[in-house]
Amino acid sequence: MNMRVQVEDKAVPSGLDAFLSALVSAGYAGDIARDRATRIVHATDNSIYQVEPTAVLFTRDSEDIARVVRLAADHRIPLSPRGGGTGTNGQSLTRGVLVDTSRHMNRILEFDLERQKVTVEPGVVLNQLNAYLQPHGLFFPPTVSTASRATLGGMVATDASGKGSRIYGKISDYIEAMEIILANGETVQVAAMPIAEARELARREDAAGRIHREVLRVVDENAELIASTFPQMNRGLTGYNLKQVLGEDGLFRLSYLLAGSEGTLAFTTRLTLRLRRRPACRALVPVRYATFQAALVDVQRLLQAEPAAIEILDDTILSLARQDVVWGEIESVLGRDDGSPVGGLNFVEFVGEAQSDIDAALARLSNLLAAEPDAVLDWKVVTDPKTIAGLWSLREKAVGLLGRLGGGKQGTPFVEDTAVPPEKLAPYVEELRAILDRHGLAYGMFGHADVGCLHVRPALDMRLPEDAALIRPVSDAVAALTKKYGGLLWGEHGRGYRGEYSPFFFGGKLYEELCALKRAFDPLNLLNPGKLASADAVLHPVERIDAVPLRGEKDRAIAAPLQRDYDKAIACNGNGACFNWDKHDPMCPSYKFTRDRRHSPKGRAAMLREWARSTSVIETQPAEARDAAEIEDELKASLDLCLACKACSSQCPVKVDIPAMKARFLQRYFTRRRRPLRHRVVAAMEPGLALARRFPGIANLGLRLMATPRLARWTGLTDLPRLSVPAPAPRLQPRDLGGLAAGAGPNAVILMEDSFTSSFDGGVVDAVAGLLARLGFEVHRASPAANGKALHALGMLDAFNKVAGAARAHQNALLATGLPVVGIEPVAVLMGRHEYVGPGLGEPLAVLGLDEFLAQALESGRLGQALPASGTAGFHLLPHCTEKTARPGTGQAWTRIFKHFGLELTVPATGCCGMAGLFGHEAEHVEMSKGLFAMSWAPRLDGLAPSAVLATGFSCRCQTERCQGYAPRHPAQALLTHLESLAPPSQPQFRQSRLHQSRLHQSRLHQSRLGDTR
Ligand SMILES: Cc1cc2nc3c(=O)[nH]c(=O)nc-3n(C[C@H](O)[C@H](O)[C@H](O)COP(=O)(O)OP(=O)(O)OC[C@H]3O[C@@H](n4cnc5c(N)ncnc54)[C@H](O)[C@@H]3O)c2cc1C
Ligand code: SF4
Ligand code: SF4
Repeated sequence: MNMRVQVEDKAVPSGLDAFLSALVSAGYAGDIARDRATRIVHATDNSIYQVEPTAVLFTRDSEDIARVVRLAADHRIPLSPRGGGTGTNGQSLTRGVLVDTSRHMNRILEFDLERQKVTVEPGVVLNQLNAYLQPHGLFFPPTVSTASRATLGGMVATDASGKGSRIYGKISDYIEAMEIILANGETVQVAAMPIAEARELARREDAAGRIHREVLRVVDENAELIASTFPQMNRGLTGYNLKQVLGEDGLFRLSYLLAGSEGTLAFTTRLTLRLRRRPACRALVPVRYATFQAALVDVQRLLQAEPAAIEILDDTILSLARQDVVWGEIESVLGRDDGSPVGGLNFVEFVGEAQSDIDAALARLSNLLAAEPDAVLDWKVVTDPKTIAGLWSLREKAVGLLGRLGGGKQGTPFVEDTAVPPEKLAPYVEELRAILDRHGLAYGMFGHADVGCLHVRPALDMRLPEDAALIRPVSDAVAALTKKYGGLLWGEHGRGYRGEYSPFFFGGKLYEELCALKRAFDPLNLLNPGKLASADAVLHPVERIDAVPLRGEKDRAIAAPLQRDYDKAIACNGNGACFNWDKHDPMCPSYKFTRDRRHSPKGRAAMLREWARSTSVIETQPAEARDAAEIEDELKASLDLCLACKACSSQCPVKVDIPAMKARFLQRYFTRRRRPLRHRVVAAMEPGLALARRFPGIANLGLRLMATPRLARWTGLTDLPRLSVPAPAPRLQPRDLGGLAAGAGPNAVILMEDSFTSSFDGGVVDAVAGLLARLGFEVHRASPAANGKALHALGMLDAFNKVAGAARAHQNALLATGLPVVGIEPVAVLMGRHEYVGPGLGEPLAVLGLDEFLAQALESGRLGQALPASGTAGFHLLPHCTEKTARPGTGQAWTRIFKHFGLELTVPATGCCGMAGLFGHEAEHVEMSKGLFAMSWAPRLDGLAPSAVLATGFSCRCQTERCQGYAPRHPAQALLTHLESLAPPSQPQFRQSRLHQSRLHQSRLHQSRLGDTR
């Protein structure tokens, strides 16, 4: 196992054109993609490999797949099925044709509540299924950390299992029936049958008969060998599971052989799955330890409490989590600091039908922990479902967090899912650490400790040849170590390109039989070739782990300046978190709308890498010029559909930040091209607003002119808002700032206006100022300054940098007074934290969002006594998506603030409203923009009174007005209206501050004249 062979991508299969034409003639209804961008985007999964398919087919139904498979056999085209593409070892990668079921074949076909069964297409995502089942009190128990995008077809093909597998088992235990397409295009229905019936079927001369004959022969002839080879573990030997084909109940189950076969035996086109009742009660107990080894050793003891699961995390993951958005939700549980460093953590979960089950389990655990108090640092029982979800989301993010190890090194999967008998886990890990230490590798560890499955991703920079060269020796050593402990190299992710280790674990004789089975199913070796086993070891050998093209080798060719500018694209590890299925999740609206992975963060990152690579090598390899031009056009088209919502810059585990890279790309792109007129119009808009605010009537006339069809066609802009400036009020002048620093009262606050709210939504500015004044704050209003958001989105970086410098100076001057500075528009506040920072600019600015300021004031008691519940109807707040992804605590903060004033507030989960600044005003994006609103916001607003709807973002209020016919209020407007409706004088917290009489506040602050329309 020590040979290193580098095989280049092989040429396009010769019959591809003929195959695709035959497909169309045969009535194929799906999409066919041969463009460079689609192929590049599908060339990676979460593994170290990059293998470009020659075409990608997005099939619509079973008939499509049958056509594809039959014609591929005629034309000798290799095929690989693909679902979520979350494999960690190249499971779905191919040089042939990729067949993706996730885009169209994602319907839930039948549901039988009484029999607790569901029938689905293979592209249904696990979370999609569980969301569908939730109202019925059911769920599908086998889970994966990638549940937001992994498909049931992919899960079955890897025989997936995850948290809770100790009590729930693996996905193969839940298959009632399957519809599969064999390599000759024949459709076969698979279900458990008496063994005698299977023997009868084996007499048939068709493909199904041949397969059953061969499977029965192999299990009959090798019964003893199978029994002694397959380990007695929860995580058995997946991939051609011969052990469970013949059940002790006298049934023959082909599904066990198919589950885990990774698309090498047949295509799954339909699945009927068994379901379970959703446990009504649950509790999670994070137990903290001084060392990871102590946590490992303690697992066996904790198992006596009979938990549903024990998941383990080490201190590396924990410290990375502290920098993640998830930390805010769980800090109160994991962040307690009593001075003892935490080296390991066990999450012990209990589930039950009744609270008494949970109480009994917690008592068992508590007795165990109390019996050996020195074994642990401490523990805490968590029963609040939201906190439990936050803690599990930390666990699910563990892989992504390892992408942020820094210094160009990333947690790298290749020995990432080993499993050993759980009682041997602690000594195994000790030896595993020794191997990694010997190679000088840093790593983080976590996993399903209760079943002995350990995830470890050594930190490597795969662009460095010396790091890439470690894949072989470390893999070999870890394979040998797992075998020594009676375990496996692949505990749950499947094998992918690790098929060369099959003979090592199955033994030579049994491996020969696996190849015989492959031959029976796929005589031409066309189904996901190179993985698991081969139909012909001489003509089509199984690929070797270091003979498959590595992604790092492609990235290595990128020139240093481009590596620096597009470092986040290089850091994208392909785990697919940005393919989140949930339409109410903010991650990537452009992907949600198009369902085209070219328009996802991963897609854009992949294209950016390929563009940067081909651009870097053109000079020395002129043959790349055509590819470079092609990918540049496709990348530009994809970036044009990016809303710059920035969900990817906070929700992606490696914070991939497409908008920042888009700006750099566009800046470079337009150095060689003329910018469209619209760019110049937009660039002139924000500077023009200062003048427009002084003459709003004239400005609105201009805007009305721009809306005429002719001019709108010319500029490509539509539905632009009209000016609506705040009422006149004194504004801070630079000369005031010194005096303010010296003489402001304890309740003084600076309200930082922004050019958009102050130009187009003046009532909101007045309401915020009015609210703060009414709460007893001494409000000093700072004139709006340009923020440059549009320049950044258009990649006009020279102009943007000037605006950013000025905006920074403006905000710094306000902050230098030492007073809290509060912004209104979320994007304007966040730009100071994310866009006006970095080399040459400086650190993030400490301007607060209004909710942050009020929440702090609430905390410090400056908002006075809580008011009694008002008894009025509650409000529904839909925060700006950029704000809630960057600051996930915002919804909770507003809820607390409203509660303090006796008002009920709910914050429904929503995606992007579709406007995103300029995006929704660009004529070519209007359909997508409105479509996005219809996808998530419209259903949330259905049936709500307009006066009950609140939105923090200016864009969101515009979009709701455009699509729903009314503009929601800002939460400050609702609060102010409520406070105005109460008798003010006796309330000390509403008293006007003394400095309202000062020079800076000679005129009374304008109080909003908003009326509550409810
Ligand atoms: C961060 C991270 C965490 C993970 N955690 C877990 C975990 O907890 N447990 C776990 O088991 N795995 C885990 N995995 C691995 C991976 O998510 C699972 O293997 C998942 O089941 C793959 O589903 P998918 O839809 O992405 O399949 P893909 O990656 O698209 O495909 C996986 C395999 O299935 C085959 N396939 C797909 N569709 C079909 C079909 N219709 N017919 C036949 N074959 C098909 C493909 O050819 C491929 O061989 C994790 C991966 C990552 C990146
Ligand atoms: S962009 Fe982020 S979330 Fe998407 S695949 Fe890459 S690393 Fe994962
Ligand atoms: S900014 Fe928004 S639309 Fe653009 S790639 Fe990121 S998540 Fe998708």
